[in-house]
Amino acid sequence: MSKARVCVICGVKKIGSPRGRHYADKYEPCPKCRRKYLTKGVLLVEAVEDLTHPKNGPQLTGGVLVLRDEAFKQLIDMPIPERRIALIEPGLIQVIAEELGK
Ligand SMILES: [Zn+2]
Repeated sequence: MSKARVCVICGVKKIGSPRGRHYADKYEPCPKCRRKYLTKGVLLVEAVEDLTHPKNGPQLTGGVLVLRDEAFKQLIDMPIPERRIALIEPGLIQVIAEELGK
């Protein structure tokens, strides 16, 4: 059974995908959110490896955050990903939020 894919940012259902069934599509936001948030920011998605079912790819834990490019470069030790979606360890969003709140 396949679960309906939803946008990780706004929760709207996504219909179809030109890229097929690659698991990375799980994190791809809907076109509206990509335009709104990912033109000047990077989407951080908390995920864990599913060691029992590695073929499923990382599993989302529910935490998402959009960081502006400058904040991303300042806080995250990696280049901005090509698709502007970065998978991070669960708990890191909390840390980043606290860092940004200072
Ligand atoms: Zn969306």
